Order: sequence, then structure tokens, then C-alpha cells
Amino acid sequence: IRTVRLILGDQLNIRHPWFAQVDDSVLYLMAELHQEARYVRHHWQKLLGFLLAMRQFADTLRAAGHRLHYVRIGDAASQLPLPEVLRQILTEHGAARFEYQQPDEYRLDQQLLLFSQSLPQPGEACDSAHFYTRRDELAACFPGDTPLLMERFYRRMRRTHGILLDGAAPLGGRWNFDHDNRKKYKGTPPVPPALSFARDVSALLAEITTAGVSGFGQIDATAFPWPANRDEALAQLAYFCQHLLPHFGEYQDALHSEQAFLFHSRLSFALNLKLISPAEVINAAVAQFQQQPAQISLAQIEGFVRQILGWREYVRGVYWKAMPEYGQLNQLDNHHPLPQMFWTGHTRMRCLHLALTQSLRHAYAHHIQRLMVIGNFALLSQRHPDAVDAWYLGVYIDAIEWVELPNTRGMSQYADGGLLASKPYVSSGSYINKMSNYCAGCAYQVKARTGHDACPFNSLYWRFLDDKKAHFAGNPRMAMMLKLLADLPADELSAIRARAGEIMADPDRF
Ligand code: FAD
Ligand code: SF4
Repeated sequence: IRTVRLILGDQLNIRHPWFAQVDDSVLYLMAELHQEARYVRHHWQKLLGFLLAMRQFADTLRAAGHRLHYVRIGDAASQLPLPEVLRQILTEHGAARFEYQQPDEYRLDQQLLLFSQSLPQPGEACDSAHFYTRRDELAACFPGDTPLLMERFYRRMRRTHGILLDGAAPLGGRWNFDHDNRKKYKGTPPVPPALSFARDVSALLAEITTAGVSGFGQIDATAFPWPANRDEALAQLAYFCQHLLPHFGEYQDALHSEQAFLFHSRLSFALNLKLISPAEVINAAVAQFQQQPAQISLAQIEGFVRQILGWREYVRGVYWKAMPEYGQLNQLDNHHPLPQMFWTGHTRMRCLHLALTQSLRHAYAHHIQRLMVIGNFALLSQRHPDAVDAWYLGVYIDAIEWVELPNTRGMSQYADGGLLASKPYVSSGSYINKMSNYCAGCAYQVKARTGHDACPFNSLYWRFLDDKKAHFAGNPRMAMMLKLLADLPADELSAIRARAGEIMADPDRF
């Protein structure tokens, strides 16, 4: 063996140039490590999903004739830190060269950089051949202190990659269909059933627990639903394009008590493990749109392309521009711990109860549940961003730090002081009422601000603005809200503050 090449658990990209030909002098290494299973407390489905997909990928590599060393979670070596595992393998096989794909996480990037530099012949990192952009491309797009405007980045991406264009102009004459894409879902059109791969993972679950690793949340080990290999990921993509894309955009911000997934693609797990690439997803969706213009309007496809070509690449760029400081930011000085309901789902606030229980049950919530229900409550009730981050990083099947952190600490908690979002994503109960059917069956009155049955989001909202107004003083996008706050009669504000204070002190009582 001349070269050892490391494949991380989120680098399951069989179309990477590495695998184009079989080379007997190369040994691939994959390892199910305790360091990865324990850096945060993960949902059971996330633990199972990663290990299952890694094993399936290992089978694919072996079947193609590649040489592979695979460390299982129950093997002694899995307890070692990654550099130790690498050192052992290099020594055991007398390999002089070490190669790896650039990790997407800062933590692993640093670990591998240090390890590489410690070798007599330094290791070599190559691109992971997955994203549209390089890590540093966003920073180059916005030099110096230029505001990191997602819309500008997105338009540039559309032009650069020739997606949904009419010559140099956007197809249909507009770059942005957000305005058309804010419908409330009222029970029609029917939502197609969620595609599930229903795999029995009981044996793997037993292996994980025997190895002493534990998770949280729910799992039906006889019917693991998520795609775990490339064929399944492609099947999930085809299902989305055929059945869900026709209504994706218009209901992308909707919330509904009976619909955990609505018209969302559930592709984030397959994408983040690199089972499929963003270009494959976008090309398939755009092809479907071109074939079925009568069924799929421009607003639907633009809404979808924006998420992947825009947001996904953009948050990755923000992550690499702003790390490692980004992970410590707490610009709004929030310090409360997370309430128990994040682990149990127990609360009388119906919106939160539904979004939290769904997250614990499916290891999934869609964007608006993450942002405007759970994240909104965490920010309004002034929870510490470290605690919020740890929860988001653990609970969702698709949570990997490069995408979780900017979304949570930045977009949702405004802990970066507005680097990513030009104003905090906060709302009172009225937004949730507008976008969902949650409030109709809730114990609280969505229109009331004070009193024992007033919607907690309302008093929390005004208290948050009042507590943090100094942070927003120069922000034109907050001016109207601050004016409304200033116009509140003093006795009303005082009653609102008192009610919010009770909720903040012990949210689990509500
Ligand atoms: P769809 O609604 O079908 O969207 C299609 C794809 O677009 C997604 O699969 C995803 O790859 C991409 N996408 C959409 N929005 C974003 C976004 N804001 N940032 C990056 N990619 C996006 N996404 C993750 O992949 N991992 C996370 O850990 C994560 N944490 C989040 C935390 C918070 C607080 C918020 C508000 C959002 C987070 N997101 C995260 C983004 C988004 O919520 C998920 O990508 C999406 O819900 C995944 O479900 P889906 O595949 O059905 O998405
Ligand atoms: Fe949530 Fe308030 Fe609506 Fe109840 S009334 S579901 S707490 S927004």
C-alpha cells in the first residue's frame, strides 16, 4: 500500500474522482468513531442513518474492487481519536502518503490539518467534489465589510451556472417568487404520502447500544425511513420531482398539524452525506419543470432552486468565512438554558408541542417549524445560543455543523448580530396563526397579550423587543416595530413584561 485515503461519514460520494479507477496501491479508510458519535448528543435516527449509509457505501466500494479498511463502532479502534486511527493504519500498511477530502466541519478540518502536518510527508487534501462553490468563494464575492446579501449571491449563482435564465435575464422576468410562495395549507391539494425505505435496522441499533453509544428521540428500528444509499437517494429525488414539486413553492412556508412533511423534499440527509449532489438535484427538478410546465409553475421551481443553489451554498460560505469565532457568538446576550420540553415535547403551546414532538419522532422538521416555531420561541424566551445549537445539531437527521450553525446561531438566533439575517426572525403568535392551523386547537388565545390564557409568544415578543432595543436602534428594518413598542402604554408594557418574565423563568409550566 502506497497511499491511505480517508473517507468521512459525510463524504459518501461515489462519483468523486478518487473512485474513477481501482488502484491496488490505495487503501481507503472508513471508521465509525466514538469521537463522532459523542461530540454532541445525537438523535437515534441520526446515529443509525450515518452508520447505515457508511456501511452501504463500504459495500459499494468493495463491490467495485477498491481496497478498504473499515472500523466498526464495536471495534476497539473506534474508541480512538481519528489521528490515532490514521497513524495506526499508516504504520500497519507502511504507507507513505495520506490523502483526504476537505472536511466540511471546522472541527475535523483542524484535526486533520494538524495530523497531516505531523507526518514526515504532509498529507494532501482535495476537494470533496460536491458543492457548486469552493469554501472561500462567498468571501471572495463579498470582500471586506460588504454585507453578505444572500439575494445577491443567489442571482450571481443563477447567472454563473445558467439556471432558470432567459438569455442573461431571469426566466419569467423575476429572480424572486417569495411573494407567491406564502400560502397557508388548508387541507387541499392532498399531500402525497412520505416515501419511506422502511429498512430493518434492529441489528445495527443493538451494535450501537452494545458499544455504549446512546441517542435520544424515537426510532422504529423495523422501519428506518431515510435513504441510505445512492439508489435510494435518487428514488427520493424522483419521488419529489414527480409528486411534491408541483406544490413545493406555494406551501414552503406553511405549517399544518396533520402534515409533518407537507411538500418538502426530505432530501437534506442524502444531500449532506453527499449520496447525491446539489447539481443532480437541481438538474432533475429543472428537467421536470421543463417537461411539465402545465403542472409545475415557475414559482414552484424557483422556490426550490433558491433553497439549494442559494441558501445551502450561501450558509456554507458564511460558515467558512466566519469560523471559528462564529461558533461562540452571542451578540444578544441570551443566557437561559433550554427547557425540558425540548426533550419531551410536553407543553400546552400547541405549535411548539407539534414541532417538538415531530422533531423527536422523525428527526425532522421543515424550515418554518425550525425557524418560526422552535427557533422563534428559543430566541424570544432568550435561551443561550450554545444550548440551542447543541439541540439543533443533535436532533435533526441532516444536522452537520457547517449547515446547522449558520442557520441556528445566525439566521434563527441572531447571535451573530445580523451577519446573516438583516433582522431577527421573531414574531408574535399572529404569524404562526397566519401560516398554520395550530392556534385553532390551542389552549392559548392567539390574540391576547396578557392574562393567564394569552398566547405566550405575544408577551415574549414585546418583552424581547423591549429588552434588546439597544441592539436594534440603528436597524432600519426594525424601526417600525420599535415605534410600535414605544407607543405601547406604560401599564400595558409593564403587564406584558411581567407575563413574559414568568414564561422565561420556567417555560415548562406553560
Ligand atoms: P426542502 O424544504 O425540501 O428544501 C430542499 C433543500 O434545500 C434541503 O434539502 C436543503 O438541502 C436545502 N435548504 C433549504 N433551506 C436551507 C437552508 N436554510 N440552509 C441550507 N440548506 C437549505 N438544514 C440542514 O441541512 N441541516 C441542518 O442542520 C439545518 N439546521 C437548520 C436549523 C435552523 C434553525 C433552520 C431555520 C434551518 C436549518 N436547516 C438545516 C435548513 C432547512 O430547515 C433544512 O435544510 C430543511 O428543512 C431540510 O428538509 P428538506 O430536505 O425537506 O428541505
Ligand atoms: Fe402557538 Fe400561541 Fe398559536 Fe398556541 S396560540 S399555537 S402558543 S402561536
